[in-house]
Amino acid sequence: MPIMEPYRIKVVEPIPITTRAHRERALAAAGYNPFNLAATDVTIDLLSDSGTGALSAEQQAAGMRGDETYAGARSYHRFHDVVSELTGYPYAFPVHQGRAAERILFTALIKPGQISVSNTHFDTTRANVEIVGGEAVDLPCRAADDLDSDAPFKGDIDLEALEAVLSSRRDVAVVLITITNNGFGGQPVSMGNIKAAGEIARRHGVPFFLDAARFAENAWLVTQREPGYENHTPRQVAEEAFRLSDGCVASLKKDAIVHIGGLLGLRDPELAAKCESLLIATEGFRTYGGLSGRDLEMLAQGLREVTDPEYLRARADATSYVASLAAAAGVDSVRPTGVHAVYLNAGRLLTHLPPSQFPGFALASELYLAGGIRCAELGSLYLGELDDVGELLKPAPYELVRLAIPRRVYTQSHLEYVGETLAEIAKEPERVPGYRLTHAPKLLRHFNCKLAPVV
Ligand SMILES: *Cc1c(COP(=O)(O)O)cnc(C)c1O
Repeated sequence: MPIMEPYRIKVVEPIPITTRAHRERALAAAGYNPFNLAATDVTIDLLSDSGTGALSAEQQAAGMRGDETYAGARSYHRFHDVVSELTGYPYAFPVHQGRAAERILFTALIKPGQISVSNTHFDTTRANVEIVGGEAVDLPCRAADDLDSDAPFKGDIDLEALEAVLSSRRDVAVVLITITNNGFGGQPVSMGNIKAAGEIARRHGVPFFLDAARFAENAWLVTQREPGYENHTPRQVAEEAFRLSDGCVASLKKDAIVHIGGLLGLRDPELAAKCESLLIATEGFRTYGGLSGRDLEMLAQGLREVTDPEYLRARADATSYVASLAAAAGVDSVRPTGVHAVYLNAGRLLTHLPPSQFPGFALASELYLAGGIRCAELGSLYLGELDDVGELLKPAPYELVRLAIPRRVYTQSHLEYVGETLAEIAKEPERVPGYRLTHAPKLLRHFNCKLAPVV
């Protein structure tokens, strides 16, 4: 079946078509770190689905209506109306991106020594918990351990473990459910799990929040996989999820299909007052929060568009298509396939490379060299423990490569090209060289490190 995108192309942007010799030079000059590559050297960019989506004609038109009044702009009121209708939160503060919402919320909510409990904290979320002196505790459900099982909701939090933590510790400041679970293969969280986790948190008097970056994609998967929700629209599921929580932090660079923006949504007036002061001190006045009127208009419109079932179906189909091309080429990916990305199991493909030679990184590099495809390693380079000279002490549990699919950007032909490139590599996987670190900074290693092929 072809992927039937419910939109057509109105504006195009050329993509660079390069030679292997060019890519070899570019990657070497980048210290083999894909974050150092220039966009002009990348043919298909699957590094991130954050802020990389294509705007609709209606979003562009809404942008023209942007009201750049300093305080009380019309655009803010339109943004606020759309957000409160979707979420039911009385307080909806715009921020420049998701991590700003995290910083503000945790500064107001978490005292040093307190903990934040989550299905899985996204990396910036964890960093923001730690920056205010808190501890981030992840309690993924057990089904998440098996990459190959088709369990439908591997993003769930482990409810028993949550109950145990909340009963035994008095220092829990917040329970935070990440939908979908980006750190864990983009797996969805069921409505049953959100409900039950919320009840446990409430019983223990702990605020219950969502990290809602991919609320619409989670809602889509709920309509496809959770008994009782077959006849719900994604919009109804999303509305219900928000209403089960005390608030949310959200990167709107994902499911509002805009290039920049975030949201801090709250119910509690006292907490909102605290957050508002921090917002004004660090982001901007409460009616713009670091965004322009133009941005606020475009993301209000994006929030309306993103729950369209036809859009979500086409997006999920595109991602599944990439996973099926990989499977046909003999490359396993994390099951079941989610919506925003395909997570290739590089460890299983490149069995000749030990974790100390970073098989995930090696496959990502090969995708670039063979086809100009940029993507991210999620394996021992990113998650393993290294010593001072960059030798691997403890490998990550899996060696994965994330192919993130930008929203409304690539056609089926582009995805087919990705599949073909991968298939070429998979014919002779033993030819893919391993890599060693030549420069490994302590902080935010994967953004700044440099590597070289092992010869
Ligand atoms: C992207 C993301 C964030 C951080 O948002 P930014 O807009 O990049 O600051 C937080 N949580 C999750 C789950 C994300 O995917």
